[in-house]
Parts: sequence; C-alpha cells; structure tokens
Amino acid sequence: MTTEILILGSSNIDFILRIPRFHLPGETISAENLMIVFGGKGANQAIASRRLGGKVAFATKLGTDHHGVAYRRYLIQHGLDPAWILRDKDHPTGLAVVELIPEGENRIIVSPGANHSFSEDDLRRLAPIPKGIKVFVTQLEVPLRTVRMGLEMAKDHGAITLLNPSPASRLSPDLLSLVDFIVPNELEAQFLTGIKMRGNRDIPRLAKRLLEMGSRNVVITLGSKGLFFKNRSQEISMKAFKVKVVDATAAGDAFMGALAYGLSRNNPLQEVLRLANGAGALAAQKLGAQPSLPGRKDLDLFLRQQDNNVMTKSGQPFPPLDSGQHRGNGRVISESS
Ligand code: ADP
Repeated sequence: MTTEILILGSSNIDFILRIPRFHLPGETISAENLMIVFGGKGANQAIASRRLGGKVAFATKLGTDHHGVAYRRYLIQHGLDPAWILRDKDHPTGLAVVELIPEGENRIIVSPGANHSFSEDDLRRLAPIPKGIKVFVTQLEVPLRTVRMGLEMAKDHGAITLLNPSPASRLSPDLLSLVDFIVPNELEAQFLTGIKMRGNRDIPRLAKRLLEMGSRNVVITLGSKGLFFKNRSQEISMKAFKVKVVDATAAGDAFMGALAYGLSRNNPLQEVLRLANGAGALAAQKLGAQPSLPGRKDLDLFLRQQDNNVMTKSGQPFPPLDSGQHRGNGRVISESS
C-alpha cells in the first residue's frame, strides 16, 4: 500500500463510565459496567480514515504494558504499518477516563503517558516520510515540538497539512503558517482567537481571525449545528445531519478522518465537507470512540438516504453541489466569495 495520509498523534485506552448525571465534588455515584475501548485522538482519526479506505500510516507511541501490546496488535490488524508505532519502556500507554451522561455529553480525564514522551528525535528516527504522501494530520495530544516538526516535514514533501488543535493550546503564528486546514470546534476556536462567542453570528469572525493568524483554510466544527468553512475566497456553512445522539465522543475525530480521506482523493471541497459532516453525525449515533467510526459503505448509504429524503420531499432532482442556496441535511446553506 502506498501511504497517502500520514497521521501523527496519540493513542489512549479509554475507560468509559456511563453515569446518570455529572456528580458533585465528594459525591459517589454508580456507573453502568465499565467499557474499555481503544481511543486517543490520533488513533481515532487514523482508524476513521482507514475505515473509509484511506491509505494511512499512523505515527504514535505506546507503552510496553499489556494495554500497549494489545493496542499495537489492534493497529496492525487495521492495516497500519508497525514501522510507525513506537514502544516506550519508561512510560505507560496513555489512558482516558470518560464520564458519559444520558444526554450524550461527556467529561474526560486524560493521563498522556507515552504520548507525552513522543519526541522530535523519535519522529526523526521513524521511517522516512512516504514519497507519495498527500495529506498530513495531527492534533495536540503529543508534544508541540513534535507536532511542529511533523508539519515541517510534511510541508517539505508537498503534503496538505491538517491540524485539529485539540486539546486547546496557544499556537504561534509561525506554527499556524505551516497549517493548510485548521479544524477546531467552537470552544477551541474561541480559545485560539481569544474571541468570546455571543451567538452564531460571531462564527465567521472566529474563522476570519484564524485565517489572519496564519492557517490557509479554517473549518470550525459546530457539533449539532454542523460546520463553517472559510478561506480567502469562499465561505461555506453546512447544517448538521439530523440524528439521534448517543455519544458525541469521537464525532470530531470521525470528521477529521473523513476530511483527510476526502482531501487525499482530491474530491471537490464541498463534497469533502459533506463527507466529514456525515461521518461526524454517524459517530455521534453510537457509543465509544473507535467502535462508532463509520465504514465507507455505511457512510455512503447514510449520505444517499439524506439525498433521497430531500428528493422525496421536493419531488425534484437533487440540486448540484455547487449551487449554494439549499437548506439543511448537510447541504450548503450559504456561500460567498
Ligand atoms: P468535537 O467532537 O471535536 O467537539 P464537534 O462536536 O463539533 O467536534 O463535532 C464534529 C462534527 O460532528 C460536527 O461538525 C458535525 O459534523 C458532527 N456532529 C457532532 N455532533 C452532532 C450531532 N449532535 N448531530 C449531527 N452531527 C453532529
């Protein structure tokens, strides 16, 4: 397999506890049976892209504990090349405790372990960056210096670079100038720009500021409200698909994985955004991070069903993707240039 997408990031074991409500300090409550699943933003995004058919390599660092051994086996089973999976004898595999309430909201505590020891030297010593690489993806769960080096190496190879700035951290303009697509959620966008959102009308302002800060394209993910895209010549708003939310934990990761996959296929931007919007919606319908990431068939079927819904309602053929003025169901609702 020729690698087209290189993802650099974290791997965590997720301990998921379903609780009736978020409890108070000092209070003890009962959870449903513990679920243990493979997670971490980097791994989620790598598996998300892979499930859609992306040609992915995943650079990550695991402990040598039993969690790390199991994770390594699992990544290899998913077709990820072991040459990119580092072992750390000194730190445990990263883990996250996820508290989940019936409304689908979560609270997460992360213990980074081996992810935080992923150094620039580690990255330098790993397999050379694949020649045909088209897309590079990273997040902020490994050290910032390693993230920067990854972005620089990817740029040197002419790849499109994607940064999911999560968890939110301060980023310098020279780092942001290495980024082709910055993909924050609403909270991360506010943190990065220092702009406090008072309503949806502030979203374009956040995107504009992020462009001024150095990234060439901005995609702000808006949870159940969909997404907002902006670059110097175009603005696109897409509403979210209407789904019954069970657990939105990996919606953003499913979105990133699909965005990377779509860009690696050289698909038109609006199609790529629609694919990502669909992947996020499907992930929000299922419990857990990686178990909820959709495969290509499910996502294609879901998107076709959305098309059919619109056709049935209007009785008209579905409008072309670039016509710009339709409403809802992940279609473009406004566009300006
Ligand atoms: P994050 O998980 O990083 O906080 P978001 O919550 O913004 O990211 O979700 C990412 C994307 O997933 C959204 O832009 C949207 O496409 C999709 N999504 C998330 N929540 C929902 C939802 N409740 N209904 C439909 N789509 C959703």
